[in-house]
Amino acid sequence: MAEYRAPLTDMQFLLHEVFAAEEKFAAMPDTAEVSADLIDAIIEEAAKITEGLLAPVNQSGDQQGCQFDAGSVTTPDGFKEAYQAHAAGGWSGLTGDVNYGGQGMPKLLSALIEEMYFAANSSFALYTILNTGATLTLSQHASDELKARYLPRMYEGIWSGTMCLTEPHAGTDLGMIRTRAVPADDGSYKITGTKIFITAGEHDLTENIIHLVLAKLPDAPEGPKGISLFLVPKLKVGNDGELTGEENNVRCGSIEHKMGIKGSATCVMNFEEATGYLVGELNNGLSNMFTMMNYERLSMGLQGNGLADSSYQVAARYAKDRIQGRAAKGAVAKDQAADPIIVHPDIRRMLLTIRANVLAGRALSMYAALQLDTARFHPDDKERAKAEQLVALLIPVQKAYCTDRGFESCVLAQQVLGGHGYVAEWGLEQNVRDARIAQIYEGANGIQALDLAGRKTVRSNGKLLQVLLAEIDQFVESQSGNSALQEFVAALTSCKQQLQSATDQLLSAAADNPEEVGAASYAYMELMGLTLYCFMWLRILAASLAALQKQENGYDASYLDGLVKTGEFFVARLLPKSKALVAEIEAGAAPLMALSDEQF
Ligand SMILES: Cc1cc2nc3c(=O)[nH]c(=O)nc-3n(C[C@H](O)[C@H](O)[C@H](O)COP(=O)(O)OP(=O)(O)OC[C@H]3O[C@@H](n4cnc5c(N)ncnc54)[C@H](O)[C@@H]3O)c2cc1C
Repeated sequence: MAEYRAPLTDMQFLLHEVFAAEEKFAAMPDTAEVSADLIDAIIEEAAKITEGLLAPVNQSGDQQGCQFDAGSVTTPDGFKEAYQAHAAGGWSGLTGDVNYGGQGMPKLLSALIEEMYFAANSSFALYTILNTGATLTLSQHASDELKARYLPRMYEGIWSGTMCLTEPHAGTDLGMIRTRAVPADDGSYKITGTKIFITAGEHDLTENIIHLVLAKLPDAPEGPKGISLFLVPKLKVGNDGELTGEENNVRCGSIEHKMGIKGSATCVMNFEEATGYLVGELNNGLSNMFTMMNYERLSMGLQGNGLADSSYQVAARYAKDRIQGRAAKGAVAKDQAADPIIVHPDIRRMLLTIRANVLAGRALSMYAALQLDTARFHPDDKERAKAEQLVALLIPVQKAYCTDRGFESCVLAQQVLGGHGYVAEWGLEQNVRDARIAQIYEGANGIQALDLAGRKTVRSNGKLLQVLLAEIDQFVESQSGNSALQEFVAALTSCKQQLQSATDQLLSAAADNPEEVGAASYAYMELMGLTLYCFMWLRILAASLAALQKQENGYDASYLDGLVKTGEFFVARLLPKSKALVAEIEAGAAPLMALSDEQF
């Protein structure tokens, strides 16, 4: 049976030793009061909720799923109580705008909390992160009047939010949406259309549901430039911010029956002349939504990391317990009929692959979250601008690479358990099913790769990459006197050079043939992901080695030694995959485009 333990030591090590979070927060007036003690207190409290309330209803929630009846959705047993505790603990407004009841906490902190939520119960986590994303969009783009009317209740967790983009014929290509918004005499709009796959579109966890809906005015320009964003409440709200008692014309038509995240309601939502309010300027809806998408995409990467970590915990425990076969060098557990499977190199390969990717993925997510915080809170214009450039480059990689590694990790952990991983009891088949969606929603991973290679690299002529490479150079420079690290620094430098030359190749190939961007994109995203994981591992290694040299460091020596050895494993066994990725990029578009459509 799966039992999730929040990885507090790993998180605290990354926060305090690797990223010196308290120093970063101290440099920004709006976060200056977020001390090391406060950080620890918050994540320890979140650990209690995830272990005590969310994890216990994860497997039962999967088995029970959501129930649909005549437009209403009932969530699995225990979700309502857990949501009430989440709201009562103030978690709904953790990163929210302080002017409307939010707590203004940095994303770096909430990212770790999201990871724990996803690890303990991904279905439940989705209800909470959709609300966070919706409040973020409103706080950045809505009028003061809309903010005052809606944000406080959403921060209190009494109301929740959704994101209504997808339509039956328009998923990736949102320019084709058909939902219409017709201006009404009172300044509001009448919204009509059908949205599909809407997470948390209908449920029984909150009193009201606030939908953020993309729609087009009748005379709007064609394509993405004609999309506007509207707030559409399920129950109407008066100017005083109280419910009027009147329902809006928004109905849930059905819920999807799907592979995983069964406790998360995925809804068809029908809007029939529903009253909506414009958020931001007309025809600028998609770009306003992008504010939220950077945060939501980060969350999907955290879903991958969280599920990978909870799978690792089960597999590592199992591998020490399960006895099968003897160690290659002779029996280890001589008093038993066989040795624990952890003695076998192939089992270690799987466990170490997961552990190395979980730690690097968590560090990369924190690094990206730190850039979001710097872009939001830093007093210096230049620092903010640099952070925005890094966010643009990092987010598609973090989303795609962490969710791919997340799914792969869940499958590897399942493999460690053999047939016992395939049956429901241990929870790993659920993790595999729950992790799969993170590679698809919030922009399928192929689209993230295209965004990275096309918009972020070719269109910027490689300029955004230079910002990241300068960060790596600065780190390498800072470690020049650290002889213990030099072997790893050489590996990072070589990977960085491969990335630079693959980028040069991409830029020159794309200038001759536009198909080269899409052809190179996935391998290019993976090469960037691997390079970033290497960069993160170097930072973890530097911090671990430094801590080992101190008399009093607050960490167990065996824990630090384990970090160093896992980093060595990453560099020796996972990093060499970069060479295959370079070869794939160099092969170009021709082998992909050679077949005619009929030949498939
Ligand atoms: C469980 C679940 C929850 C969801 N929650 C929400 C939600 O809350 N709100 C919401 O609005 N949506 C939601 N979605 C929708 C989700 O974001 C979309 O499914 C996703 O963006 C992909 O769109 P699509 O399914 O229409 O696939 P398509 O757009 O049809 O894409 C199919 C395939 O083609 C590829 N592709 C498409 N265009 C290109 C291109 N130009 N170049 C190369 N490859 C391309 C894609 O990468 C993908 O692999 C959810 C979906 C699911 C399954």
